[in-house]
Amino acid sequence: MARPEIDQAALAQALRAFASVVGAGNVFSEEQDRVEYSDHFAPEEQAEAHQPSAAVAPETAEEVRAIVRIANQYKIPLWPISRGKNFGYGGAAPVLKGSVILDLSRMKRIEVDEKSGTVLVEPGVGFFDLYDYLQEHNIPLWMSVPGNSWGSVAGNALDRGVGYTPYGDHASRICGLEVVLPDGDLVRTGMGAIGEGATWQLYKPGFGPSWDTMFCQSNFGIVTKLGLWLMPEPESVLGLNVDVDNPEDIAWLVDTLGPMRREGILQQSPSIGNWLRAAATMTTREEWARPGERISDAAIAAIRAQFDIGWWGVTLRFYGPLEITEATLRVAQKAFDDKPVFKMGQTRWVKGDAPEGSPVTGVPVTFPLSNANWFGGRGGHLGFSPVLPVDGDIALRYFNRNYELHNEFGFDYHPSFAIQERSMNNINQLLFDRDNPTMVANLDTMFRTLVREAASEGYAEYRTHISYMDVVADTFDFNDHALRRLNEKVKTALDPNGIVAPGKSGIWSAGTNETAA
Ligand code: ADP
Repeated sequence: MARPEIDQAALAQALRAFASVVGAGNVFSEEQDRVEYSDHFAPEEQAEAHQPSAAVAPETAEEVRAIVRIANQYKIPLWPISRGKNFGYGGAAPVLKGSVILDLSRMKRIEVDEKSGTVLVEPGVGFFDLYDYLQEHNIPLWMSVPGNSWGSVAGNALDRGVGYTPYGDHASRICGLEVVLPDGDLVRTGMGAIGEGATWQLYKPGFGPSWDTMFCQSNFGIVTKLGLWLMPEPESVLGLNVDVDNPEDIAWLVDTLGPMRREGILQQSPSIGNWLRAAATMTTREEWARPGERISDAAIAAIRAQFDIGWWGVTLRFYGPLEITEATLRVAQKAFDDKPVFKMGQTRWVKGDAPEGSPVTGVPVTFPLSNANWFGGRGGHLGFSPVLPVDGDIALRYFNRNYELHNEFGFDYHPSFAIQERSMNNINQLLFDRDNPTMVANLDTMFRTLVREAASEGYAEYRTHISYMDVVADTFDFNDHALRRLNEKVKTALDPNGIVAPGKSGIWSAGTNETAA
């Protein structure tokens, strides 16, 4: 069955009705608006295939409810975004071309409970907004922020974004949601479901089934408030910056960090990145290789020498009272005693010192995004993010194969391996030049090959770009895609008209699905 087309007459009526709810100034339907809400980091053709028809920006949950009712009436799909900075995975753009972006960035309320260490944010609250709020009010609570922190606290947590402090698994720190359901109903989850909900942000399970995770990476509702735990400012943050010299060192590095993370010596999930992750924000490719030519080992050595970086590097941080962090640091250092470390540096921050000013201390930054300039032209990037076991041999094998695959297709490998308690997120940024047609064509072939090869070994992605949601969902094929059947049953029950984010994570309401690409 073909994907639904947007009925233009119905759209025009819906837009007028939206304007009556939010004011004409908050409905955006000019050509320039469609471009603004497109995916700026995708190849032109892909961006075009996911272009929205308009956007509407409500300010309150009641306005969201009214918009949802109108969308049902005219059968116009909405694509909710918080700030729409989900670049590498689609930015603000929808899966289904012609959807109307439900831009929640005007909803910016922040309520902090300093004593309990929690915050209730509306979707429009950016990482910088919350950071400024905590600073201005002198609140000793730290956020966890992603490497590129220009997005929203809520949108990032809902899409299972990650950061670098002990609170870096953002979705796992969610505690209590307010959600507009596809039929316009308004629910509060967990302990928020009781009248005044005095423990809404304190106790995750609630009574009976827990619903918070059901609204992560899904299209079952529109989140209008999100509760999140914040980290009490620690007395100290001590650290080790470890660099290693050879590509093969990834194996022992993973096997050294894995047990420390499982035992809790490491409270945060350290992210091992290669030389390109470090260098791509500081230089451009044309300085080191001719276009179309593979970057030679000599060039890699020269880049590493210029910026004094290892083939791989990782930052470890220990948080808490100084007595504890000093002891932990000694234990961690000992783990590297018999290892061929290339370079190891220590860091030390103690309460009262000037802030370290980076994501490891919860400070938002945006500079890593400059890596999109690596190839020159109008830079883009696409995320390929499989989840692997924490196993050095697997990491090495995986690295070797994907490194070769990147070279074959004319890409430079930009991987990172984030060591979690039981799994490893292998986040790869496929950097490319949007103006280079060969790269753009190869990008799609390479991405599909990466997904297919990972799946053949039993690995799947934790998150993916809007162009590949069906492709990735299709790899979850146990019992002839039983998971898809479950998702679609729930989706169809909640959203028979398919008006909330159709196609998100490969989930479509019955009657709007198409065989996966
Ligand atoms: P950010 O600006 O923080 O990077 P986005 O607004 O781009 O995050 O959101 C990331 C993804 O999460 C979106 O594509 C959308 O699918 C989903 N999402 C974001 N905000 C909401 C929300 N309030 N309710 C439901 N889903 C959301």
